[in-house]
Amino acid sequence: MARMMAAKLFGAKDTRVVEVERPEPGPGQILVAVKAVAICPSDLRLWEDGHAGGTYPDHPFTQGHEFSGVVAELGEGVKGPAPGTPVAVTPLWACGECDLCREGLSNICRRIVFPSFPQTDGAMQEYMVVPAWSVEPLPENVNLVHGALLEPLQAAYHGVSLAPSIDPEKAIAIVGAGIIGLSVLQIVRALGAKNVYVADPLEHNRAIAEAMGATATAPFATDFLATLTDLAHQPRIVFECSGHPKALGQAMELCRPFGLVVIIGVPHPDVIEFDTRPPRRKELHFVFSRRYRRETLRQTIELLARGGVDLESYPVQTFSLAQAAEAMAAADAKPAGILRVVVVMD
Ligand SMILES: [Zn+2]
Ligand SMILES: [Zn+2]
Repeated sequence: MARMMAAKLFGAKDTRVVEVERPEPGPGQILVAVKAVAICPSDLRLWEDGHAGGTYPDHPFTQGHEFSGVVAELGEGVKGPAPGTPVAVTPLWACGECDLCREGLSNICRRIVFPSFPQTDGAMQEYMVVPAWSVEPLPENVNLVHGALLEPLQAAYHGVSLAPSIDPEKAIAIVGAGIIGLSVLQIVRALGAKNVYVADPLEHNRAIAEAMGATATAPFATDFLATLTDLAHQPRIVFECSGHPKALGQAMELCRPFGLVVIIGVPHPDVIEFDTRPPRRKELHFVFSRRYRRETLRQTIELLARGGVDLESYPVQTFSLAQAAEAMAAADAKPAGILRVVVVMD
């Protein structure tokens, strides 16, 4: 049996690189040589606590769901992409058969498997077996390191798809300019939005948003209320991308009456409080966005290939697989000006 190296979580804040058996692709599967794994805030929550929402991994566990790689081997019956092709992989393995999948709602599949959440191993290992349908060739304008960022781009894309069509003349606001908020900004700009307000307390995140074409930026969503000269220009769609416990309330205050708040950020902590008066008095709509669907990877790749969305301008800090423990600690420390810490395989 061939062997490979994998970064395993043995317990809270205890990541170790160990040798394990290399998996082999079965029928309908592809073996991917993993090349880059970005560390997501949700990975950090599991790393910090040793469990995800009360679910404990029952074995030393491989983290990472934002990743790219190169096709290493095709399982029986799989026609492509050819070995050697750089690919992105969607980590949302929906069953394709339940009532929700049959309605096209694969993001909320009843039997979903999401690698890197207990109990399915994630990507921080040299090789990974994935369903053939979950793989798409990377477009030429995306390198393997930034290819890992197609996962958060998909989350942003799905959130935008939950809003009615983007009217270029109507204002939009984004709360939180991390990788999801900035990706929402790039996507709505690519769809023609001219007036996009972006709130983030961190100056370096606001600077990236401005470089990507934000109309105005401010530390907090409610700051824009003071600068709006005409309330008719209040944003009709507000994307909450931060997960900060105060952000949802602020997003609702900023939103125009009868507008829509799309919640993409995962609230942390899970239970948050907000003033019900603004959404009630303004008859606001809100929708929670859950990950992305089976087709979202292909759609985001088409968007990238057309241009208008640029992943390579996102600042990342890279570590090797041997440095996986350092990479987790570095990501947890939230280095200034870095949007993602990425583990890169040689
Ligand atoms: Zn993620
Ligand atoms: Zn399903």
